[in-house]
Amino acid sequence: MLNGQSPGTGRPKLIVGVVIDQMRPDYLTRYYSKFGDSGFKKILKNGFYCRNTQFNYAPTYTGPGHASIYTGTTPSLHGITGNDWYDQSAMDTVYCTQDTSVSAVGGEGREGMMSPHRLLTTTITDQLRLSTQMKAKVVGISLKDRGAILPAGRSADAAYWYDGKSGNWITSSWYRNDLPKWAQEFNDRKWPEQYLSKPWNTALPIKEYFESDPDDSPYEAVFRGEENPVFPHDLPALKGTGYDLVRRTPFGNTLTKDFALSAILGEKMGADSIPDFLCVSFSATDYVGHQFGPNAIETEDTYIRLDRDIADLLTFLDNRIGQGAYLLFMTADHACMENPKFMLDHKLAAGFSDPTTIKDTIRYFFTRKYGKPEYLQCYLNDQVHFDETLIAR
Ligand SMILES: [Zn+2]
Repeated sequence: MLNGQSPGTGRPKLIVGVVIDQMRPDYLTRYYSKFGDSGFKKILKNGFYCRNTQFNYAPTYTGPGHASIYTGTTPSLHGITGNDWYDQSAMDTVYCTQDTSVSAVGGEGREGMMSPHRLLTTTITDQLRLSTQMKAKVVGISLKDRGAILPAGRSADAAYWYDGKSGNWITSSWYRNDLPKWAQEFNDRKWPEQYLSKPWNTALPIKEYFESDPDDSPYEAVFRGEENPVFPHDLPALKGTGYDLVRRTPFGNTLTKDFALSAILGEKMGADSIPDFLCVSFSATDYVGHQFGPNAIETEDTYIRLDRDIADLLTFLDNRIGQGAYLLFMTADHACMENPKFMLDHKLAAGFSDPTTIKDTIRYFFTRKYGKPEYLQCYLNDQVHFDETLIAR
């Protein structure tokens, strides 16, 4: 990829880390015939494809996923053991990027009270800052705060995430005290309003989506206010107050891509010989995946449209940074499984586990063996916490 734009070092001018939230590797082959030549296919053709990769921890949620990709280690060491987890010292549940000591910038309230303060080790982006006397620019971008903050690390110039109430990109006082001019100008264009002003229709004729199940499926959830989970999804009617609905449509990815391009221009990333690092996480795939599942036309359409966004990103990088002068990697924070009910309906081995039953079973065990159930303090993310003080007593 590199042809020595930085004399003597062969370093890239810009590194772009792309995480696609909830993307499964089989989507690359499943939807292959629907992709253009300049998006996923270009990466597959010109890049190095690591096929035999595995997760060596659980649970594989967004927080632990992004932290593991960028720290190169596992939750027991980087500290992000869930999106939310039980903090035994605080005796309370905490959210991975929640930080009440910082305040929103470009927005207000709890949406902006976020930082990487719970990351216990450095990210590759922090290491780049350390090795360049903090001269490398590092920016994280994602609709999800945790998808922007954890990759960018503790020493980043900034991380930006989406505030669904205002439809603006925001950050927090951990990074800076005002929005840069380019970000403010981007917000002023009110893209979310435009994306929600017309229905979501399939990008290709709907009969061509033969890689997915029929549109009206019992394994999909509807948008609030919708009767059936079918196209066209009437976004103007479903929008409600605010602009949060954008997340649950492929246009959330386009919004992310456009904001990322603005960041490269606005921050002059990749403009000098010191490598910069842009972390972009596409979250709409995860919101759509959760609602519609891996066999939905909605999911397929989201990837067809994401392929076009990836093509835009690559073309922009080729033109702006230069072919061979940047390094891009693409991965996912986790994948998704089939709907268990869908599996059962097709005679496949599957089932549901109910956390309440698991909790009750553990409590029952404690009651029978030690006379009281309170030894179990919390059960969350399949993680069991015992009351160690009580046990010591
Ligand atoms: Zn995720």
